[in-house]
Amino acid sequence: MMDETVSTLRRTLEHAEAFIGSTDTRRVAATATYDELRSRLGGELNRDPMEPSQVIDNLVEATKDGLLGSGTGRFYAWVISGALPSALAADWLTSTWDQNAVTYECSPSAAVVEEVVGEWLKDLLGLPAEASFALTTGCQAAHFTGLAAARHAVLERSGWDLGARGLFGAPEIQVLVSELRHHSIDRALRFLGFGERQVVRLPVDDFGQIKVQSLQCALAQTGGPSVLVLSAGEINTGEFDQFSDLIPMARESGAWVHVDGAFGLIARASRSKRAYLDGVELADSWATDAHKWLNVPFDCGAVFVRDSAAHLAAMTINAEYIQPTAGARDQIDWTPEWSRRGRGFAVYAALRELGRQGVENLVDRCCDHAAALVEGIGSLPGVRIIHRPSLNQGLVRFLDPRAGADEAAHDARTDQVISAINATGEAFFSGTIWQQRKAMRVSVVNWRTTDEDVDRVIRACASVLG
Ligand SMILES: *Cc1c(COP(=O)(O)O)cnc(C)c1O
Repeated sequence: MMDETVSTLRRTLEHAEAFIGSTDTRRVAATATYDELRSRLGGELNRDPMEPSQVIDNLVEATKDGLLGSGTGRFYAWVISGALPSALAADWLTSTWDQNAVTYECSPSAAVVEEVVGEWLKDLLGLPAEASFALTTGCQAAHFTGLAAARHAVLERSGWDLGARGLFGAPEIQVLVSELRHHSIDRALRFLGFGERQVVRLPVDDFGQIKVQSLQCALAQTGGPSVLVLSAGEINTGEFDQFSDLIPMARESGAWVHVDGAFGLIARASRSKRAYLDGVELADSWATDAHKWLNVPFDCGAVFVRDSAAHLAAMTINAEYIQPTAGARDQIDWTPEWSRRGRGFAVYAALRELGRQGVENLVDRCCDHAAALVEGIGSLPGVRIIHRPSLNQGLVRFLDPRAGADEAAHDARTDQVISAINATGEAFFSGTIWQQRKAMRVSVVNWRTTDEDVDRVIRACASVLG
């Protein structure tokens, strides 16, 4: 008789085949209502055991139309990608192997794979070879890790031993952020003991970049330890802060510079986009995601820290039952988690599958698709282009055609058109607010998106607007 685990996995492969096979025909939006999902999935927990294959069949049936087609080539909401074939397969194996990627001793292969992934990523993204790194659950956890190192280092420079004394009574740290920062930074800061009072919001220009002057002023006013957070890829426009100007200025005044590069940092792998990020390598820490532009399945982020000693001091733990292995890298020294998934395997697979050239091609292709979508949708009647992508993020706004329609009417029209496009099942977009006005975001990070997908989506938008 076949092992029950294996027979369940065989059944699961059939479900996966059906799911992936319907990529081009399934509706992109989820259609099930909350009540439908509750009634299918809820109810009392069964008293008696259930056959594993039955559990899977039921799960597939009950969740089907409540899943978003975020892995398809016609999904452009938020910044969500799909999964490369080998990355998905490696992720399956990761669960099958079920390693605890906490120390080298706990899984030598998991530890070495992560170590290699860290080296490859630094090389690909042009970050200092001496930087330490960690794979985290996502970019927010990467912010948390990088900013914990920052907190440790700037306090140490002020003569404060954070490890021994904690934050109580410590010199106050000022954190300078862009008014357009991603809110995962606020949350990471909150977890690290920073309140509203320690966070200074710097004004941005029309492109969403921090103004050099406003940083100058802010730095002049902060006497004590400080941290500056810059953006490599603003979520609405994909624009970058002016690293070459801002980073030297901040470091000169003793600030630690952390970069949010959840998706944008990956553009360093493209020769044609690299110049947008000139100077980013001068920062102290960088956070990015593998589950966005690298098309690794959820969840995986990465952080890199120039001052590895500060990173280590912020994260390491001494426990009697953990024996370091000489010469090997224990992940627990660098990550906020204890037990954790072997998330290096899927990243390793994605990087191998793409190769250096493949990452560049993926970045360039997504940017071309974003531009084609914005131009194509923008040329339809009643559409205003708000931001033409220089990277992979663009913005359009839908105008109320009635005479005398004001901005509020255009806001309402924009919401309405986004819903109508999503209701066609042909594509999925999300809305945003840019400079106080509503817009539809066009974000392309999926390896699957093709020229045909782009044409098909523009046709769907035309049918809605027509
Ligand atoms: C997605 C995103 C984050 C948060 O990343 P998670 O992986 O979801 O934690 C932070 N910053 C930017 C710019 C993002 O796009």
